[in-house]
Amino acid sequence: MAKIIDGKAVSQKIKEEVRAEIERDGLKVGLAVVIVGNNQASRVYVNNKKKACEACGIQSYEYALPEETTEKELRDLVRTLNDDPNVNGILVQLPLPKHITEKKIIKTISPKKDVDAFHAENVGRIVIGNYAFLPCTPAGVMELIHSTGTDVEGKECVVIGRSNIVGKPMAMLLLHENATVTICHSHTKNLAEVCRRADILVSAVGKADFVTADMVKEGAVVIDVGMNRNAENKLCGDVKFDEVEPKASYITPVPGGVGPMTIAMLMKNTLMAKRLQSK
Ligand code: NAP
Repeated sequence: MAKIIDGKAVSQKIKEEVRAEIERDGLKVGLAVVIVGNNQASRVYVNNKKKACEACGIQSYEYALPEETTEKELRDLVRTLNDDPNVNGILVQLPLPKHITEKKIIKTISPKKDVDAFHAENVGRIVIGNYAFLPCTPAGVMELIHSTGTDVEGKECVVIGRSNIVGKPMAMLLLHENATVTICHSHTKNLAEVCRRADILVSAVGKADFVTADMVKEGAVVIDVGMNRNAENKLCGDVKFDEVEPKASYITPVPGGVGPMTIAMLMKNTLMAKRLQSK
């Protein structure tokens, strides 16, 4: 029987630490949250981020723009926020409408306010191990692994998924802690066999019931980044929880695992941005 990793509890502790630091040092910290269009999932994420700001004593500034906003208008807004001293972090909620090139918008965000750590400068810094911000979801996963007391050094870690947002930076953070890391993707041969090598298995695929018991080594730590809807439209991860849980030593649930951590790490990054800008 696996121990369930309580992402809500770990994230709560991180948010309390952020709040305590802001109060202790009397800081004024601001996060601009930009949302374009009417994507319902994005609206839920933005509302959760605003709630977390409130809990941490961070001022949030919401910019809700209509679907037909042009790329130029959005870039102009980002430039204005780059220059606004009340705004320490800028978060542009993805995905953006199809007529806007996400890469161009991310490139416009000042690397010092890029609290998602998506800007090429911050990505490069992560690769060379000289970073200020860590991307929120992979950083949250590392916190969850640490919360189990598992030492990553020398462990076989398998990451399923190679997106710029989750898979690749996830692998990089595990590598920085001296794990032996394998990244799998849709062209990987013998996926189950590769996954069975993992002492720590991180799934970031985006398909319900993707990770089955035959892919998991006895005693592995299993981290489920996936956020999917099952046939009953209920939120679920990538991992077939009921059959994997008895084999794992630790496992994250969905909901209540990685999701809350992503937001907590965003709060931590926003405080970090304030510190960087005050230097
Ligand atoms: P993504 O960009 O769609 O990437 C999915 C990855 O899965 C790709 O690298 C893809 O391989 C790989 N993949 C797809 N089918 C596969 C297969 N049959 N075998 C092996 N690999 C396969 O997704 P993402 O943005 O990384 O997100 C992944 C999941 O995490 C989604 O469910 C998303 O909602 C969730 N997520 C959760 C949080 C959170 O806070 N909890 C944050 C971000 C994302 P190819 O590259 O070869 O196509």
